[in-house]
Amino acid sequence: MNDQIKDKIRGAIFGQAIGDAIGLGTEFMTQAMVKHYYPEGLTEYTQILQDKHRKRWKPGEWTDDTNQMLCILDSILATKRVDVKDIALTLVDWAHHDGRGSGRTITSVLGSPIFMQRPHEAAKNYWEQSNRYAAANGAVMRTSVLGVWEYDKPEKIRINATKVCKITHYDPRCVGSCVMTCLAISRLLQGETDMEQLSYSLLLEGDIFDQRIRPFLAEHLHPNIAVLNLSDTSNLGYTLKALGAGLWALQYAPSFDSGISTIIHEGGDADTNAAVAGAILGAKFGYEALPTRWKDHLHRKDWLMEQTEQLIALLEAA
Ligand SMILES: [Mg+2]
Repeated sequence: MNDQIKDKIRGAIFGQAIGDAIGLGTEFMTQAMVKHYYPEGLTEYTQILQDKHRKRWKPGEWTDDTNQMLCILDSILATKRVDVKDIALTLVDWAHHDGRGSGRTITSVLGSPIFMQRPHEAAKNYWEQSNRYAAANGAVMRTSVLGVWEYDKPEKIRINATKVCKITHYDPRCVGSCVMTCLAISRLLQGETDMEQLSYSLLLEGDIFDQRIRPFLAEHLHPNIAVLNLSDTSNLGYTLKALGAGLWALQYAPSFDSGISTIIHEGGDADTNAAVAGAILGAKFGYEALPTRWKDHLHRKDWLMEQTEQLIALLEAA
């Protein structure tokens, strides 16, 4: 593996964690609230408003989005493969010991009595009970590492992203979001530079999973991020919004700093949107290009780098 790919892998993992940690600052805010609480803009972790929701995390600490991605990474490092039951167990363990920030779908599905034995069935039951309506962003937010694992084998990525998504999120829009995000990361790791071509091939991929993905993106993906309406409370945690934020960043963000800053100032489910976009932008621009102020003050950054280096070593050994 060459140094450029290693830099992009570190970029994807740290990019997700950074987007999540800084995005917490505007999570669940309207744009008016963002302007009110951050009149000069949110640029540093230490500025993050210490209200009841946010003060549960230290400045620079990532939230559930990245913790769940790290559950998947932990499991891969331990089993050297993508093992659905082991990942399910790791998620339950995290939920028991931490669980801060867990969404409704995660809480419900993990709480099912059959979850440990048959996670896909538990997730399907929850989805059926919602009249096949629930399509939250709780799977796409944690999927990035599956674009790194076996990054040069798209067929494996499709299978892995699908089966890990369905541990909690059964809707085909969630599965499509995960596969598209992972394939974007894998193609960026392999040096793809034509973003228009990449975006187009991702749209075709989305069609395989659900016919609602492409029309949503066609309507909402625009150089002006306002079209995505990220703080609209009627569908704040919708998986296609987080995917949209990621694909907006892929196509239109000139740098990691600029892309993440733009996304978090839109409010809404900002930590999740910025986690997805951060992983994609990190894979695009690499770790070295991530802003120093966000890398240096990331909580548990040394531990995160150790995990990342273990992943790189495992990929090199394969
Ligand atoms: Mg979160």
